Amino acid sequence: MSGHTCHWPGCGKAVPPKLWGCKACWFKLPKHLRDRIWSTYVPGQEVTKTPSREYLEAARDVQAWIAANHPPAPVQGRLL
Ligand SMILES: [Zn+2]
Repeated sequence: MSGHTCHWPGCGKAVPPKLWGCKACWFKLPKHLRDRIWSTYVPGQEVTKTPSREYLEAARDVQAWIAANHPPAPVQGRLL
């Protein structure tokens, strides 16, 4: 086992390799992105390590969406 973890940045929760991430993070994603991940996912890609180009693009868009909508908590309070 290689210890597959949730793809949400900073989550780190262990999830089955065929899942993008843990349930809590997965359902924070908008449905159209979840649909894209599912529709481009090829069973066994986590074994062959050769996900489709479409899947990689979907996964990249998910990361971009997270960065835009759920940015890491900014370090505040040090400005004064
Ligand atoms: Zn997670």
